[in-house]
Amino acid sequence: MFPTTITGSLPKPAWLAEPNRLWAPWRLAGADLDAAKRDATILAVKLQEDCGIDVVTDGEQSRQHFVHGFLEQVAGVDFDRKVEMGIRADRYKAMVPTVTGALSLKGRVHAAEAQTARATTKHKLKFTLPGPMTIADTIADAHYGDRARMAMALGSLLNQEARALAADGVDVIQIDEPAFNVYPGEVADWGIAALERAIEGLTCATAVHICYGYGIEANITWKRSLGSEWRQYEAIFPLINASRIDQVSIECRNSRVPIELLKLLDRKQVQVGVIDVATEAVETPEEVVAVIAAALKYLPKESIIAGTNCGMAPMRRDVAAAKLAALGRGAERARRQFG
Ligand code: ZN
Repeated sequence: MFPTTITGSLPKPAWLAEPNRLWAPWRLAGADLDAAKRDATILAVKLQEDCGIDVVTDGEQSRQHFVHGFLEQVAGVDFDRKVEMGIRADRYKAMVPTVTGALSLKGRVHAAEAQTARATTKHKLKFTLPGPMTIADTIADAHYGDRARMAMALGSLLNQEARALAADGVDVIQIDEPAFNVYPGEVADWGIAALERAIEGLTCATAVHICYGYGIEANITWKRSLGSEWRQYEAIFPLINASRIDQVSIECRNSRVPIELLKLLDRKQVQVGVIDVATEAVETPEEVVAVIAAALKYLPKESIIAGTNCGMAPMRRDVAAAKLAALGRGAERARRQFG
């Protein structure tokens, strides 16, 4: 009951990349970088085990950015042709690469870190991939002429890598779609179809993470504009509930998402975010139990997985470790209380 997991990413050690920064440059190159990524992956897995995390991840230690880590292995994207684009409905301006031809994979994307993580732990292993809509919202298109078509092509590439990850021994494939609550109309039109394309034929468990973003300034400002209750999920939860995805990961700790919206996910397992990644205040076990108790009003206990609100990549490493320990201890207490 109440198995624990994290959304995906953890902070990287300072010897691998500059800390407390998204998209930090690597501090090594070549074979040294490969070895350092492997060491960091092992540390990330062991830290999760020590903290009582049941379904562990590679901590995304081998990618600089959750979208561009995947794109690096995609042919048809010209990284020298960068244009400024407003992404997530213009919440950020970013310099993004351009799609100039049909998209295909150059080879495996995440084989090394998936295999390293698998060899390091007997725990269940979750692996995250960026979602088709989120990737399509992070690149400029000069080839497909239609976001839905480009997203379906990306769904096919993600599916190719997801199948290979499952063959590596991954137990849960999670697709990260932070763009879902920005474009609810497109979610209905093609977002779910592209998501289902990404998980087609997988026999392992599947999950989607949707969220209001990391605790960075642009997101904090955006969230202030959303009012006292965030109801964006009300439009997309029914669509996700009807989809073939098994699990949904969402933020619930310190979130303004009305908790009763969880009842719209009654056909899914829900990774309930019980740890806030936008504050350095470390949750107490009681605070973790309180979020689980609130979710229990709307979901059966068998459907609840205790997780983090979002990725922890930009956090301080010691704070992230303390929060993982709080997650493990809080879930343990909830098992005693509600078991
Ligand atoms: Zn997130």
